[in-house]
Amino acid sequence: MRLVEVGIPKVRHRGPALDGRPDTSDLVDRFGRVARDLRVSITEKCSLRCVYCMPEEGLPPIPREQLLTVEEIVRLVVLAVRELGVREVRFTGGEPLMRHDLERIVAGCHEQVPETPLSMTTNGIGLQHRARGLVAAGLQRVNVSLDTVDREGFARLTRRDRLDSALAGIRTAREVGLAPIKVNAVLMRHTLTNAADLLQWCLGEGCELRFIEEMPLGADREWARSNMVTAAELLDVLGTRFTLTEAGRREDPSAPAEGWLVDGGPAVVGIIATVTRNFCGSCDRTRLTADGMLRSCLFSDQEFDVRQVLRSGADDAEIANLWRGAMWNKWAGHGIDAEGFAPPERTMGAIGG
Ligand code: SAM
Ligand code: SF4
Repeated sequence: MRLVEVGIPKVRHRGPALDGRPDTSDLVDRFGRVARDLRVSITEKCSLRCVYCMPEEGLPPIPREQLLTVEEIVRLVVLAVRELGVREVRFTGGEPLMRHDLERIVAGCHEQVPETPLSMTTNGIGLQHRARGLVAAGLQRVNVSLDTVDREGFARLTRRDRLDSALAGIRTAREVGLAPIKVNAVLMRHTLTNAADLLQWCLGEGCELRFIEEMPLGADREWARSNMVTAAELLDVLGTRFTLTEAGRREDPSAPAEGWLVDGGPAVVGIIATVTRNFCGSCDRTRLTADGMLRSCLFSDQEFDVRQVLRSGADDAEIANLWRGAMWNKWAGHGIDAEGFAPPERTMGAIGG
């Protein structure tokens, strides 16, 4: 029962409908989008307990036999790149650094698809001790999640007093060349007053800060549209200390962050307005969970069990077809503003953000 409460869906689909799908190897969907960006969650475990993500006691552990192994993850990543048109891969979780075999996962992927950029989203705890090894394994970039540089605020938000470790992780990552480092901060009402300090800190450290609107994906299910901090509110707060000029989506139209030049540039702050200015129409993500489920969207409960297919001895062509079907059935959008919206059963920490 508890698994369902905190977000592991019960129903999984094995045979996705492929009606009307064009004859292409790429991960296309019914709305003309093509998935090129693979997010691989490798664990549900985490060193922090961010209030908008995890329950205080952590997520229920995935039984060992259900967790994808290093070899399975590498096989699926390589297949996604070679057969399905995936162009970049990001490891996430839970906290990817909680897996001691992360370096082997990265190295295994890098050896077989060396041209594909491999990156990681991390809270930075312990990164100080792993960054060099990860670079040697083939990791190119990290996004570090950091919501505030105020020690008390950090402890309150993450339920752990580990700000120093997170900051040390960011600094080491920069020293070893895991650049450019992007810092992600989720917008919460009690850290909003420190948002300008966080931006100031990131400017000083040469990190690109991106604020993210809180999504209804937390384990406590306390998110409310009426109470969430919006991108517009954040701009007002930052505007009291900085002059911000809209720079648009500079690098890539499918990149979710809208850029704002800070005090005339060249520094930029990004805002990912997932809720109030959704960008589902240009989403290019496909997802693999730590227990081997394919997902086309953070918000859909539709999952396809690739672990079972893989372990039943399926060849690459069979797995690739399952993946294509999973993506062909992707929803148009998250529908947060629609009447009757219900958050997905699996929460952010169990999907991988
Ligand atoms: N532990 C790693 C970390 O924190 O970066 C990776 C996993 S975490 C689930 C990935 C990203 O999701 C983080 O940037 C985190 O801030 C974000 N996130 C978690 N819960 C969220 C929520 N309810 N709304 C928006 N972003 C969320
Ligand atoms: Fe852990 Fe990342 Fe979730 Fe925070 S956001 S609890 S660091 S998985």
